[in-house]
Amino acid sequence: MRQHRRPFRQITRHALASCAALTVALAAGFLPRVATAQRPLKVYISVDMEGIAGVVTGDQLGPTGFEYERARGFMTGEALAAIAGARDAGATEIVVSDSHGNGESLLIDQFPDDVRIVRSWPRPLMMMEGIDSTFSAAVFVGYHASTTSPAGVRAHTISSANLASVSLNGVAMPEAGINAAIAGRFGVPVVFISGDNVAVDETRRLLGDVEGAVVKQAISFHAASTMTPKAAQQLIREHVKAAVQRRSAFKPYVVKAPVTLDVIFKNYRPAEMLAFLSSVQRTTSHGIRFVGKDMIEVSKFLEFIGTYQPDLAP
Ligand SMILES: [Zn+2]
Repeated sequence: MRQHRRPFRQITRHALASCAALTVALAAGFLPRVATAQRPLKVYISVDMEGIAGVVTGDQLGPTGFEYERARGFMTGEALAAIAGARDAGATEIVVSDSHGNGESLLIDQFPDDVRIVRSWPRPLMMMEGIDSTFSAAVFVGYHASTTSPAGVRAHTISSANLASVSLNGVAMPEAGINAAIAGRFGVPVVFISGDNVAVDETRRLLGDVEGAVVKQAISFHAASTMTPKAAQQLIREHVKAAVQRRSAFKPYVVKAPVTLDVIFKNYRPAEMLAFLSSVQRTTSHGIRFVGKDMIEVSKFLEFIGTYQPDLAP
């Protein structure tokens, strides 16, 4: 169902002038509809793939995997469930970021027509591109544990091939932490995460008691005991609804600025080369430090080091 947003000023004037009409609406049982129409409620949904039910290996995670097309459907189903849950809680506007791999995994023709979808890379705000201070809540679907976690299906941070650790102000971060800090820069709290049990636990240790949907139990890096897609979607819808309903209980995750970013590479040469830049400090054989004035600068730096190659074309 399509929801229409009315100009705020008009709504305010209307609200002040029509207490009597509201009372009548309340008596007639129309309040939920009236309340939904009066207050725009924007929800940002960032979707990754490693934490989607059924996803365990590269067979699901990329275009060369035999089950990628089906996994795109599972991922799309969980994103749609999160949208439905947010709508159940009164969301009027939704932005979804397609934040795994090539950024083109979601089956966009299956989404409601009033949802915007952020696709492909690079993006200054990475997995949070499109968020700003007008959003009331951020929702993470299909997330995975960090590269410094000893457990979790496909545990990594940003790049499993290149990065051994990413820290903000001295604290090792999963992607959920980095993305929560980007949302926090705009005053937006994270209210929900889904993924395997390790990802959900790790995020809660960092952000506090956000709503969580554990859609699989990690057995090893490439094995899990998983829910079916349909069962996972039902769980996600219920918990996203509860999370958005109690969004005022969650605080934005704000990292103190300026933000010190420490990155440990798996290889030696990226650290050596980046330290040629005066804004970058070499900390160890494989490590560099960058101090950004805020999370926007830090996000741009991370996107740069993950994307730049001298032979970029076009
Ligand atoms: Zn991913």
